[in-house]
Amino acid sequence: MMKVGITGGIGSGKTTICKLFELLGIPVFYADTVGKELMLSDLAVKQAIVNLFGDSAYFPDTSLNRKYIADIVFKDNEKLNALNAIIHPAVKDAFLLWSEKQSAPYVLKEAALLFESKSYLDNDSNILVSSSVELRIKRVMERDQTSREKVLERIEKQLPEEEKQKLADFFILNNEELHIIPQVLKLHHQLVLLAQQK
Ligand code: ATP
Repeated sequence: MMKVGITGGIGSGKTTICKLFELLGIPVFYADTVGKELMLSDLAVKQAIVNLFGDSAYFPDTSLNRKYIADIVFKDNEKLNALNAIIHPAVKDAFLLWSEKQSAPYVLKEAALLFESKSYLDNDSNILVSSSVELRIKRVMERDQTSREKVLERIEKQLPEEEKQKLADFFILNNEELHIIPQVLKLHHQLVLLAQQK
């Protein structure tokens, strides 16, 4: 199965683009959603999280204390890296199992930290969704009802756009000047051809 990663900065529109690929029949694995699910359902992941953050990581009803963990990792990069080192390998295994079960010319793996986590190296190719910073800020402020400062804080934690551009093989520009549907259709046809040659 040909595996294609898709990423983009916060608010670039990667989930929106993935929904268009889904309409074309392409299965999409949402890595960040699966990561969150594994924190609740995977016993080895849960134990590693308790070892890292202590018993307060989970509430007595076994649900995850997201705020407690988010507050720690926001300030402590080592803890963030340690958390990622627990989640990313588990997500990688889940993606491989999932992709083996799909029947399509190729599959997409959507991940916010595709390049940062180095998981792009496991894919046959990778797509970068780009938009201007101003548009991304506006979209996320509207979507999440949050402040400009909060969005900027999140943007600053991600790899700079120029670095992502160097690592990507395909690009979609989601800046409201270019239509996204023709770009997705063109890329889909390219990827189907690549999958046939594989
Ligand atoms: P995150 O990294 O936060 O998950 P994302 O890159 O997945 O963000 P989306 O959630 O797809 O981004 O898009 C952010 C917001 O912008 C959403 O509310 C979405 O509906 C809107 N949006 C994205 N692209 C477009 C577009 N081309 N036209 C109009 N609205 C758009």
